[in-house]
Amino acid sequence: MQAPTHPLNADLHCHSLFSDGTLTPAALAQRAKDNGVELWALTDHDEIGGQREALAAAARLGLPAVTGVEISVSFAATSVHIVGLGVDPDDAALRDGLRATRAGRERRARAMADDLARAGIGGSFEGALRHAGNPELISRTHFARHLVDSGVCRDMRAVFAAYLVRGKPGYVEHCWASLGDAVRWITQAGGIAVVAHPGRYRFTPNEEFALFAEFKAHGGRAVEVVTGSHSGADAVRYAALAIELGLLASRGADFHAPGESRVDLGRLPGLPRTLEPVWAALGDRVQRT
Ligand code: AMP
Ligand code: MN
Ligand code: MN
Ligand code: MN
Repeated sequence: MQAPTHPLNADLHCHSLFSDGTLTPAALAQRAKDNGVELWALTDHDEIGGQREALAAAARLGLPAVTGVEISVSFAATSVHIVGLGVDPDDAALRDGLRATRAGRERRARAMADDLARAGIGGSFEGALRHAGNPELISRTHFARHLVDSGVCRDMRAVFAAYLVRGKPGYVEHCWASLGDAVRWITQAGGIAVVAHPGRYRFTPNEEFALFAEFKAHGGRAVEVVTGSHSGADAVRYAALAIELGLLASRGADFHAPGESRVDLGRLPGLPRTLEPVWAALGDRVQRT
């Protein structure tokens, strides 16, 4: 028998054209609505430029929504993502922090392209930039799409198996924001900080313990339990961790593009009833319609 789950179809993690998604914020709001989402957040990587359009579209559709962002952080030589929900998009320190975090992307992308060229794949900076539009937002996802449509790999999964990850061509070490800065930018902008898809990081148990201990010490309050990036076993594991550490639980598909993302908006398993959902703490941060 299935364990009881929270009834609200909340989806609090996805990406638009303002980062590495392929849809506009308004098209994502429509897709969320069509898929039965009842509380929605757009969480672009290091960027809040899509928030106004997202909230306006959600209001037109009668879709309750909350602002969001997904900040890239370096922790124990790994990229960790911290989602912020309910942040004030006009907060100056948050905006400055995100701008600084985005600033290194173009240089990193040129180094990635140089490394791919050494492996015999030329022209990838220009190819990735065609997908990204803006060099400030260029990401591994845009390189991956270019490697697929230029015929180097058959799909995104094949790209991330052979390229762009540590030890493979096209991987470049990068220094993102610090964990403490990211959590502070979010909380001081009125938001709730959430550890995104913890099942994706390849940490030792000690490193993972340190991540959560430091995250909480800086004021972080929640963890994604049900996400498109987790297996069923990951969800069980992080549900237990949420209870053990007293963290709120979040749920989001991490949808990027039709035909590319494993899970569509609003089409995730429910959050177990044993957990305190992050939306119980969002309060006035939710734009209700
Ligand atoms: P970046 O911020 O440039 O390091 O790019 C990270 C993005 O690459 C993530 O947000 C995902 O969208 C994508 N990505 C990373 N690893 C994978 C993977 N194994 N499969 C598919 N997409 C991935
Ligand atoms: Mn992404
Ligand atoms: Mn992420
Ligand atoms: Mn994401």
